[in-house]
Amino acid sequence: MKEVILIKDGELALKGLNRRNFESIMTGNIRRRLRDLGGVQIRRAQSTLYIEPLHDDFDFEEALERVSRIFGIAGFSRACVCEKNMADILGKAPEYLRETLKNAKTFKVEAKRADKRFELKSPEICREVGGVLLGAYPHLKVDVHNPDIVVMVEIRDYAAYLHAGQIHGAGGLPVGTAGHAAILISGGIDSPVAAWTMAKRGLTLDAIHFASPPYTSPRAELKVKTLLSKVARYSGIIRLWMVPFTEIQEKIGENCPEDYFTLIMRRMMMRIAERVASKNNCLALITGESLGQVASQTLPAIAATDSVTSIPVLRPLIGMDKEEIVRISKAIDTFETSILPYEDCCTVFTPKHPHTKPKPGQCEAAEEKLDIEALVEKAVDETYYVLIDASGELPPKENS
Ligand code: ATP
Ligand code: MG
Repeated sequence: MKEVILIKDGELALKGLNRRNFESIMTGNIRRRLRDLGGVQIRRAQSTLYIEPLHDDFDFEEALERVSRIFGIAGFSRACVCEKNMADILGKAPEYLRETLKNAKTFKVEAKRADKRFELKSPEICREVGGVLLGAYPHLKVDVHNPDIVVMVEIRDYAAYLHAGQIHGAGGLPVGTAGHAAILISGGIDSPVAAWTMAKRGLTLDAIHFASPPYTSPRAELKVKTLLSKVARYSGIIRLWMVPFTEIQEKIGENCPEDYFTLIMRRMMMRIAERVASKNNCLALITGESLGQVASQTLPAIAATDSVTSIPVLRPLIGMDKEEIVRISKAIDTFETSILPYEDCCTVFTPKHPHTKPKPGQCEAAEEKLDIEALVEKAVDETYYVLIDASGELPPKENS
């Protein structure tokens, strides 16, 4: 039996004049994500996308997994293609739905008749399909209020489709419809969740990581890459900028008052990130900060870090509790990696009593012995990137 994946847009439907553009970006995203599974044809009709495999050995399970992580998709179903006549639909329904119905106790049938010329009206379609299913599976009962399975029959332009209901999609907006931004990624729980949250709003992601070898290890860098590859299953490919940060941390350690270490370090991160971002068409920075979570995330501390940048800093987790953030990180499968105990540059020079309420001007005074411009410029010059996709870091050939 020939099968397809039917995809329903989410918020896309609201986008008026931009609709065409949104649709073509989403179609491109789907094509890219499914590319290595073999050829597919993607058609659009009546606000539904039809994904039709071109080969018999198409891995539907894997394709459905991937589709479930593509932003902009409200729902999707794996469906059997039938001819537009009742004989074909009734002939295929029992066999196609066998596995699904075997374990169910109750079901109902719903019909959507987009083609009003079809031989039967919706209630008649439901009655006939329900009848053959009850005949084939006598253990089943019809329950129109709370069925285990909703069997759908959709009569559309070119064919009829039979499936066992729609699965929730990832929602959001297609990646690439909202421009570029750069996530400051650490190895922690929060920043991968922040990255995912903003990709969901249609942003294409770059990522920036500050590494301080030998205080931080290659394993810590690998952890960041692993986290990003998990985010990339949703966001698509990510360019990861690696910033050498050792010298700056040492200079801060030698030249600044200890209670300002963290604040000054964060201000240096922001200055460098802003340069890297604007050199690469990113219109905003993203961080995983959440108000009050740690000393550097009080409002005065955030004001002190924000004051050194002039591009927007998006903080999608700012009002979330740790519990809510952890829930998302488990759902997107970054949690287990995030809690691996490798050191981050933030933890290397942590002051015993960090300043939590810096007043305007105090950070400037505390960092006055640093040659900020020279340090920032050197770090930006030494920054390099690697490409990360859902399978991990891409080999250097594809990186160049
Ligand atoms: P996370 O769980 O994301 O590590 P956190 O609660 O540990 O966050 P901080 O260590 O204070 O918080 O970092 C706050 C934010 O600063 C992070 O969410 C991230 O966006 C950024 N950040 C921290 N360390 C780094 C780093 N080494 N490289 C890049 N960005 C970083
Ligand atoms: Mg951290």
